[in-house]
Amino acid sequence: MENQEKLAFSIREEMVQSNLKGMRIVAWTLMYVSVIISLIHYGEVFFVKAERAMVPVYIAIHIAMFYIDVAVLLFIREKRIHITPVNIQKYERLVVVYIYTIMLLITAISVLDVYFFRHAALYEVILIIICTVFALPLRKIVWIILLSASAIIVSAYMSAGISSENIKIILPMSLLIPIGVMIQYQTYKVRKQIHTQHILLNEEMTKTKRLSELLAIKNNELAEQALKDSLTNLPNRRAFNQKLNKIGQQLYQTQPLTVIMIDIDCFKKFNDYYGHLQGDAAIVKVASLLEEIAGKYNAFVARWGGEEFVMISQHTHKVAEPVCEEILEEIRQLNIPHLQSTIAQQVTVSIGMCQAKIAKYEHLQTCCELADQALYLAKQNGRNNYFCKMAIFDEEANASI
Ligand code: GH3
Ligand code: MG
Ligand code: MG
Repeated sequence: MENQEKLAFSIREEMVQSNLKGMRIVAWTLMYVSVIISLIHYGEVFFVKAERAMVPVYIAIHIAMFYIDVAVLLFIREKRIHITPVNIQKYERLVVVYIYTIMLLITAISVLDVYFFRHAALYEVILIIICTVFALPLRKIVWIILLSASAIIVSAYMSAGISSENIKIILPMSLLIPIGVMIQYQTYKVRKQIHTQHILLNEEMTKTKRLSELLAIKNNELAEQALKDSLTNLPNRRAFNQKLNKIGQQLYQTQPLTVIMIDIDCFKKFNDYYGHLQGDAAIVKVASLLEEIAGKYNAFVARWGGEEFVMISQHTHKVAEPVCEEILEEIRQLNIPHLQSTIAQQVTVSIGMCQAKIAKYEHLQTCCELADQALYLAKQNGRNNYFCKMAIFDEEANASI
């Protein structure tokens, strides 16, 4: 219902806007016409003595019309007026009052013209202009058309009865009334239809735009989710591979790289003893600790899978071993009880690290494999410790350790 009301108001507003625009056009035109006709009449005062008697009346009407048009143009100076539900009626009335005033003034001139010179050309032209330019419901405009046209027909009849000379005025005027009414009816109908369609189209476009924005946001969210591990919220394996690709693409000279693999010790036993939910909680705790440490060293950390994590850094080359020590210590400090562990009373991790100077994408992959091998060695060495491998790549990309 509210939407229907909004739509109805928007259509009404557009109609008023286009009528006000038409009013400005008509006012400018009539202002110039009034000046020119007044000048011509002034000329008549001096040169055409016989018609001199009527000139002051003509000029007075044209001056009145001129000032009305100036007032209208001063009143509606902006191209598009701010229309609200409060002021809309005022502007609707202004249009109607303007049309009635202009038509009455033109009728007055035309009655004189009919009476003295047997023509109603000015009236005919202005009636057609008004019916074409303005769009109003017929009930608002039909009265002035009937009144003004009848006034001219009556004055024609009064001046010379049904003479053949007068038929030239009465016949076109009688035809002009239905034509004017028809034009006005069509103008109103068509313009209302156009505005309605325009507003509906705009609404649809705004809706579509809003939907596509929403879709873009959802897409971004989905893309982000696809790269996140649902349990720990850390980047997942896919995100890690993307990171490797990115580093690989940006490799333009040899640069240091450290890959650190972290694996929780005896975690199967932890699950068996404490249950999977507790296991999940332990993984989350380890993950957030690793995230904190990675943030400190500007490293990238991801969940490699299961109870394994991987950290990659292009900055921690020199401090890599202290980082491993820090991880081991901080995990122990977490103090997550693990009574089934063969190493300690609490959860511990083993770490495999590879340090290298890399120059191409393949070096990255080799580095990861070496870190994995180092982790295996750390496990073999009793767990709760780290093992480090250094890789030096020669030109054929073979690693020597
Ligand atoms: P090791 O010290 O050699 O690493 O022994 P481990 O038991 O930790 O290693 P193993 O590979 O035998 O077992 C890993 C366990 O991790 C098995 C699996 O149940 C558990 N696990 C993997 N992912 C999850 C998970 O998302 N949640 C839980 N609760 N457990 C997981
Ligand atoms: Mg494992
Ligand atoms: Mg393990």
